[in-house]
Amino acid sequence: MTGSHLAASFTPAQRVQRIKASPSTVAAARVRELKAAGEQIFDFTVGQPDFDTPQHIQDAATRAMAAGETRYTSVNGTVELRAAIRQRMQRTSGIAYPDESVTIGGGAKQVIYLAFSATLDAHDEVIIPTPYWVSYPDMVAANDGTPVIVQTKAEDRYKITPEQLRAAITERTRWLILNSPSNPTGVAYTKPELQALAAVLEEVPHVWVLTDEIYDDITFGPEPLVGLAEVAPSIRSRVLTVNGVSKSYAMTGWRLGYAVGDPALIGAINLLQSQVSTCPSSVSQAAAVAALTGDQTFVHETVRAYRERRDRALDLINTIDGLHPIEPDGAFYLFVDCAGLIGRRTPQGQELTSDQDVTLYLLEEAGVAVIQGSAFGAEPFFRMSFATDLDTIEAGVAAISEAVAQLT
Ligand code: PLP
Repeated sequence: MTGSHLAASFTPAQRVQRIKASPSTVAAARVRELKAAGEQIFDFTVGQPDFDTPQHIQDAATRAMAAGETRYTSVNGTVELRAAIRQRMQRTSGIAYPDESVTIGGGAKQVIYLAFSATLDAHDEVIIPTPYWVSYPDMVAANDGTPVIVQTKAEDRYKITPEQLRAAITERTRWLILNSPSNPTGVAYTKPELQALAAVLEEVPHVWVLTDEIYDDITFGPEPLVGLAEVAPSIRSRVLTVNGVSKSYAMTGWRLGYAVGDPALIGAINLLQSQVSTCPSSVSQAAAVAALTGDQTFVHETVRAYRERRDRALDLINTIDGLHPIEPDGAFYLFVDCAGLIGRRTPQGQELTSDQDVTLYLLEEAGVAVIQGSAFGAEPFFRMSFATDLDTIEAGVAAISEAVAQLT
């Protein structure tokens, strides 16, 4: 049988036809291709820390392997990791979650996917404020749900308001998704903002909230962030709080994320998990216990480094005519308003009509890779990750500045 014969006979399921590949994964693959072809690229597409996993976490994994912790675990993870997650939640939010409130999966991404899979029937609606993490709408669509996109505004710092939330809710609404601090903007919801949203949600008991707090350790203000479950006890039973070790502990490749929430919901997610992957990696679970319960110096030091990079990147980009970055409260991204470049012409005479054009121009003219805002449901913007060293940030932004100066 030839390859072309196979390709001709294959039609993916509707759910696959409804979705697209993650734009950040596509952008990263393009950068790898260009680099392999010998081009020098300043890569600001990455959504992961540029640090290595701390040694004490690697050592815990090595010890686990040597001790024979190389077999399936319970579907809902090891007792030790569930305890570590519950302790972490208690430490950060003051909430004592019972053991049956915890689910653990192969990354927060898998946990979110399973949460939708466990709850959405055809045409159930999920409210997703823009700019959103690229995967939410596709994960909803893949699970037969309908993403309801709510355009947030600059004057609200790109956060959904209580009025917008109220207007978006219908009888079919199943979930509201919050992501604080946000990928791509880095903005975080304050306690009063969360409480105002909770006041709306109190009136609609059929609406649940998935709050993705995976960047909650990476914050730049003097105060730690607050989570929705913590500040809104009246709706807490309907809040699924998602987190993981990927970002805080530079463990993206270990694939380990978790969620805490209502035990019946968690039970449904675990039932699916039992048929999807049985359990997350045993070795990664041992590593995650060390991450959550061990020395937190790494987290504090890397947050200091991200803060320095954020400040430098903000200062430099703010000097470029036509670019306006949003100041992030956390995470490691700058979401840059590039409306000032739309309508300008490249040295080759081409007009920039969209953020896709801007992104392409920066890649070709400046060798700078960023991701267009339209991938996050907000235009015209681009997302620039600062999970890279200061030298690359300075040289990359200088290249952007030169390329922008050539536009007329
Ligand atoms: N949620 C957000 C907002 C993210 O940016 C990411 C990763 O990019 C994830 C979830 C997924 O993280 P994990 O590596 O735990 O699957």
